[in-house]
Amino acid sequence: MAILNKPDKVHQAIAWHGDIPITNRYTAGVAGERFFREVKENGKFMGTRCPECDLIYVPATMFCERCFAELDEWVQVENQGQVVTYTILYWDLDDQPLAVPLVLALVQLDGSDGGLVHYLGETDPEDVYIGMEVEAVLKDPAEREGSILDIRHFRPIQV
Ligand SMILES: [Zn+2]
Repeated sequence: MAILNKPDKVHQAIAWHGDIPITNRYTAGVAGERFFREVKENGKFMGTRCPECDLIYVPATMFCERCFAELDEWVQVENQGQVVTYTILYWDLDDQPLAVPLVLALVQLDGSDGGLVHYLGETDPEDVYIGMEVEAVLKDPAEREGSILDIRHFRPIQV
């Protein structure tokens, strides 16, 4: 196939194969900015409530994803919740084995209908289960930057 011919199928095109590592920045938005500012400055998790649907969004959003109402009622939710689902990572992004497996979990915070995806720490990956009660471990206030990484990880609540 000549280089100027238009291929019928993409896989027939003559191409350089490779990977392009790409990073990006995506604004947190108005609600996200306030959510992260509360974590940074006060160590609190805030959500927004839709009175029509009686849902509390965490992370906070400006609009209800079900009825599209504008949300302006802010409510504090708990810094603890339950593991909704999780995965155990054994390999890093460069396809190298991790020295210690990592656990990523979706944690639904108590008092909310939403949740955060974050690391689980201070636990053996084999001990994690759906429904596990966990709490956020925040960085020291002076270390916080207004990002999701102001949460070091979630850990099991000791009972
Ligand atoms: Zn709604």
